[in-house]
Amino acid sequence: MAFDSLSEKLQNVFRNLRSKGRLTEDDVKAALKEVKMALLEADVNFKVVKQFTKSVQERAIGQDVMNGLNPGQMVIKIVNEEMVKLMGSETTELAFRPGKELTVIMMVGLQGAGKTTTTAKIAGKLKLKGKKTLLAACDVYRPAAIEQLQINGEKQGVEVFTMGDKNKPVNIAKAAVEHARKNEFNVLIIDTAGRLHVDEDMMAELEEIKEQVDVFQTVLVVDAMTGQDAVNVAGTFDEKIGIDGVILTKLDGDTRGGAALSIRAVTGKPILYVGMGEKLSDLEQFYPDRMASRILG
Ligand code: GDP
Repeated sequence: MAFDSLSEKLQNVFRNLRSKGRLTEDDVKAALKEVKMALLEADVNFKVVKQFTKSVQERAIGQDVMNGLNPGQMVIKIVNEEMVKLMGSETTELAFRPGKELTVIMMVGLQGAGKTTTTAKIAGKLKLKGKKTLLAACDVYRPAAIEQLQINGEKQGVEVFTMGDKNKPVNIAKAAVEHARKNEFNVLIIDTAGRLHVDEDMMAELEEIKEQVDVFQTVLVVDAMTGQDAVNVAGTFDEKIGIDGVILTKLDGDTRGGAALSIRAVTGKPILYVGMGEKLSDLEQFYPDRMASRILG
């Protein structure tokens, strides 16, 4: 289960709070110190942790206890509310062009993050919404990426546009747009090539596609298990090519939760979906309030 270790630590802090009848200012401060430690161990961004505990402390110490809640419960309620805020409060959906106009979505990210799998997962979701979706295989570098997209596209019942691995990604993307327009697709999702690390060639290639193809949404796929690295990758991609949202994959194996809790606060970009497994149905909409409840147990 995701976030096990963070949840367990926070629950211990809260158990101690609950067991006290009245809370002093020192009790609150001591509890928040432990919350801070737990968040840092979960690999939450340092600045985010600092700001988070400051906000909770200001609210917890200044606030009258609400009817029916003891002071311990009040602190837990404030931690919950601030955690929801940290993750953006509202659910953000992928955006589409109005009416029947073609929406082009470009998927970007490092190799192994889960881009190709997630592309097929999204295609399934859009199909259920009644959108005629085309996938374009522009990852010409990773062996088997094209075939993987074809296999998964077929499983989802969605057409995959390929031109093999001998063409430039930007040319494949342009041809895919033409094919999509001619055949009245509503959405085209471009699966681009990642690299093992952020590098200039990858960014130049993505920029070129973005310039030459009318991309409406750029979606970054990052591996939640890489914690702060995922957050740094998100910051770099946003700076270099501009992203509209993030998909966090492999949350099913993430016991710490650092990326989920920091990425919005650090980059200002919303989490759109979370990957919860390898199956094509394992993609969930991101709800900040449900995520906070999951973490706090
Ligand atoms: P790409 O290089 O970014 O296109 O990555 P792939 O789509 O090939 O995914 C890399 C590996 O991560 C594959 O083995 C996927 O099955 C796996 N994967 C992708 N998303 C998830 C997820 O949400 N949870 C888990 N457990 N595995 C995932």
